[in-house]
Parts: sequence; structure tokens; C-alpha cells
Amino acid sequence: MTQIFDNPADFADEALDGFVAANRGYVARVDGGVVRSTEVPAGQVALVVGGGSGHYPAFAGLVGPGLAAASACGNMFASPAAGQVYRVAKAANAGGGVLLSYGNYAGDVLHFGQAQLRLNAEGIPTRTVLVTDDIASAPLDQIGKRRGIAGDLTVFKIAGAAAEAGLDLDGVERLAIRTNYRTRSLGVAFGGCTLPGADAPLFSVPAGQMSLGLGIHGEPGISEHPMPTASELAELLVTKLLADKPHDAGSRVVAIVNGLGTVKYDELFLLFGKIEKLLLAAGLTVVEPECGELVTSLDMSGLSLTLLWLDEELEQYWAAPADTPAFRKGNLAPRAARQLAAADAEVASDVERPTPAAAELGRQAVAVLRQVRDVVVEHEEELGRLDAIAGDGDHGIGMRRGVDAAVTAAEQAAAADGGASPASVLTSAGEAWSERAGGTSGALWGSAVIAAGLALGNRDSYSAGDAAATVSAFVDAITELGKADAGDKTMVDALLPFRDTFLLALDGGATAAAALAAAAAAAQTAADRTAELRPLKGRARPLAEKSLGHPDPGAVSFALIAARISAHTDNRLGNPEPAKQGAQA
Ligand code: ADP
Ligand code: MG
Repeated sequence: MTQIFDNPADFADEALDGFVAANRGYVARVDGGVVRSTEVPAGQVALVVGGGSGHYPAFAGLVGPGLAAASACGNMFASPAAGQVYRVAKAANAGGGVLLSYGNYAGDVLHFGQAQLRLNAEGIPTRTVLVTDDIASAPLDQIGKRRGIAGDLTVFKIAGAAAEAGLDLDGVERLAIRTNYRTRSLGVAFGGCTLPGADAPLFSVPAGQMSLGLGIHGEPGISEHPMPTASELAELLVTKLLADKPHDAGSRVVAIVNGLGTVKYDELFLLFGKIEKLLLAAGLTVVEPECGELVTSLDMSGLSLTLLWLDEELEQYWAAPADTPAFRKGNLAPRAARQLAAADAEVASDVERPTPAAAELGRQAVAVLRQVRDVVVEHEEELGRLDAIAGDGDHGIGMRRGVDAAVTAAEQAAAADGGASPASVLTSAGEAWSERAGGTSGALWGSAVIAAGLALGNRDSYSAGDAAATVSAFVDAITELGKADAGDKTMVDALLPFRDTFLLALDGGATAAAALAAAAAAAQTAADRTAELRPLKGRARPLAEKSLGHPDPGAVSFALIAARISAHTDNRLGNPEPAKQGAQA
């Protein structure tokens, strides 16, 4: 149980405030997480880690010289929103670019991915290395699908040390990828964890049993086994990890025994002793191991073993000093305090001067978003019902929350003196959408709206070519982040025909309004057709059979929105001649 809180909804935020109060020599609070409070050499790559809260010392406890530059901190077990990741990374950037690294979970991938697109678009070179160490979550030939658990530490540590040593973004990324590739973990649970304010654990393990292959968000294990002795447990973990070793594994390994929250240190040490003997017996040399709480899961009763197969270069960075609230190694020269006010001011001071054409388009963008809100509100219940068939029933409410927030943010941006460009209106709107909506579709819509805004920019004039680029950017953002293909039964099945029809019509000399009408019709037909498909992505995947015969909710909402924008454009432009009507889609 978690006992100490006022309002459970504020738990993650208030815990983070207190963590900062207790560690001001290391970290400072920024919107969305923490950054180092000490001086960072100019040009150093910023390793930005993060994820949901409830995993301390991951992730905020690993911020400091020789390790992470910053951590984006979400709610309990929930990814930070894209806007938070973006702001944290921007505050952490020291001119050397940003490496985002975090455990491989769909929500984190969407939100960090969206932040990455935005950082890159603003000229801050940003890369991502996902941690995929959990061997229980997918077979070795699908290593990219594995979850990230305690292997976070090896990847972060080596990437952080490489950044500290002055390697450039390419170099830091290369080492992080290699470390992840050579890291394997496996965990067991004896009991589940309970979220603050909840009265039951997220899962439970029957008495006398052990669950093998736990996740760190209260995901139960893959299989249950009678509770083993310590020696049997050590044997099980070591055998399974050694069987999964990388093809070019050497004989020097880092071993990490990690407690998930309520297993006592004495028990962890006892197990570590047995594990070390087994590794030595297997001909391995154990290098600078760790034993303790490194990636936890609230009050979960469980532990994991991680092995990192070193090579010379990785060993050098693993052994390098680091100095963070929760992880210290070797000696680092003391750092001066950093002038953080300047970094905050920089984030806040992006004042733009829109051109007259951009300000006009910015106003139109607000009007279009209001139309989107209206159509979503009209269909909110229907979208919820559709999503409840094989999903979790929140598509209507999620879309509504997102678009409500987007309209408010867009109106605020456009109310600036002299108006605002579509870049400013739509990036504000998309960020608000993603932060308020939650869910998969919220992150995807948020990033698509931002991408559309960035494609339109702040220019002296606009043409039909800009409409084409905007539609492409919108669709690309969704496919790049969501990685769904045609036929997976997602909104992509409506988006692709929409885009293709739009571009073809423009190419054929149609006006933007006429192209939009044709594209919206194509989206509608395609959305209807998704009823014949089985979902291969998203939450509905496990319930594929139930979904047959019903269209995909995300495809349906997109088609409704496309139709409304098309009707709005027709009304506004009248019945346009197939001449130059600009790009006011
Ligand atoms: P969640 O699935 O998180 O509950 P929503 O219910 O709001 O989010 O949205 C569900 C819709 O999201 C699906 O109907 C589908 O169209 C879309 N979706 C899910 N995963 C993907 C993906 N990887 N790429 C594109 N669209 C997706
Ligand atoms: Mg849903």
C-alpha cells in the first residue's frame, strides 16, 4: 500500500517536488520533470531519460554529471506527455543535441517520438534509443518488441558517461544502441503493487507461487511457478539469461540484481551471492556489479537480474564516474550551480512576428479547429460505443478532451497582438491535444496537428503546394509515430486514401476545396471498409474477433472530421472555380 499522500491524483507531482527539495544540489524542477542544477559544459550531448513515475530511482534519481541530463516524469506508470518531454529536453539541451532514452512502451514511444519530431523541426538534433532488455516480453528475434525494465540503468549509464566524455550525438547514440543490444533482464514477482489511492494491487500472485517475467507497471508475469529456494531462483534467472546472450558476447559481464520495491536488501544480497557463483562457474567475469533498488515498481514484491555483456569500450564507460541522487560511482570534480533562470527564459521567449498571410491562415486554423470540435462533440457517444466493442470505450471522450484543449490553446495563441501564424496556433493546439486527451489517438492527433503547423510555418504567402505539404506532414506524423501499416485496422486506413486522393486531385488541377471534398469522400469509404479488417495494432488487437464487422473508431472519427472540414471549406470559399484558390484547407 501507499499510505502517505493528500490527494492521490497529486501523488506523482508532490513526490517529485519533494525529491527536488531534498536534492537541490543535483536537480531543479522544470515543467514536466527535472534537469541538472549544476553547470553542463557547452556542447555536451544531453541524455534525457524518463517515463512514468513510481519507478524511483528511475528516472529522476539518475540525473547528474556522468549520467542523465534531465528526466521527463509522467504520472504514476503513465508516459509523460509529449509537451513535457519537449520542454524538459529543451531545458536540458546544452548545444550538443539530445538523446532520448526510455523503456519500450507504446505510450512512451508515442509521446517521446512526438517530442523528438518537434525538437528536430526546431533545429535541436534529437535521437532515440529504446531500452528493450526484458527477455520475457518477446523472443530474441523480435528484440525490438521487448519491454524495457532494469536494463534502463546500463543503457543510461553508458550513454551518460559517453556524453560526459565529450562524444558527439552520433557517438553517444551508437554506444547506447550497442549497450541495449547486449543487455538482458528477467524478473520475478511475489506480489503486485498498489497505486496511491487504490484499494487493491494491480495483480496478485497466489500464496506459495512466483510469477516469472514480470513487467514494471504492474503487468503480471508470463507464467506462474511454485516458490523456489534462493539457489533455484538464482539458477533459473542465470540459465534463462545466458541462453539469450548476444551472438558476440564476450566473457566480461555487468550483473545487476534489482529490487522492485519491497524485497529487503539482505535478500537481494543473498541472491546476488548465489548468482555471482553461477556466473563464475559459467566462465564469466563479473565487472562492477550493482545490487539494490534501481528500477522499482512502487511497493511491488519482486526482483530482476540484468546482465550486460561488455566489450572494452562499454566497460570503460560503465566504470566511469557518475554522481546523481541515487547512483554514485568514482569521483567527479564538484560542479558549479547552473544559471537555470536563463534556460527557463529561453523556453518561454519564443515570440514570433507572423506575416499578414500567416496571421490570416492562423485565424482560419482556429476556425477549422472549432469545426473539428463541433463534429467530435456531436459524435462523442457514438465513437465511445464503437471503441467499447473491442477497445476500452474512451475514444469519444478522449477525442473530445483533446480537441477542447486544442481549441482553447489555439484561441489563446491567435489572441496575441498581431495574431499568430499557423505554426504557432497549431503547435499550441497539438501540444494541448496530446496532453489532455491521453490515449493513443491523443498522442497521434497531437503530433499530426503540430506537424501540420510546422509545415505551414510563418511565410509571406501560401499556395496550393502548401496544402499538399501540410496534408502529407499530417499523415507522415501519424505513420512515423504509430508505425501502423495499411490494413492494420487503425485510422491510417482512412488517412492514406485521404492523402492520396487529395494529392492526386491537386496534381490534376483541382482547387484545394475540390481536392478536399474528394479526399473526405475517400476517407469515408475507407473508414466503412475497416469493418472487414481485424485489428493488428493498438488496444483492440487482443480482441480482434469482436471487432470484425465494426469499423475502426479512429478511422471513423477521422472520416467525420475530414467531411466537416471539407463542408466548412466549401461554405467559406463558395463554389470555387478550378483556378488558384490558395491553400486554405
Ligand atoms: P486508446 O487505444 O489508447 O484507448 P483511443 O481509443 O482514443 O486510444 O483511440 C483508438 C484508435 O487509435 C484506434 O481506433 C485506432 O484508429 C487508433 N490507433 C491505435 N493504435 C494506432 C497506431 N499504432 N497507429 C495509428 N492509429 C492507431
Ligand atoms: Mg480507446
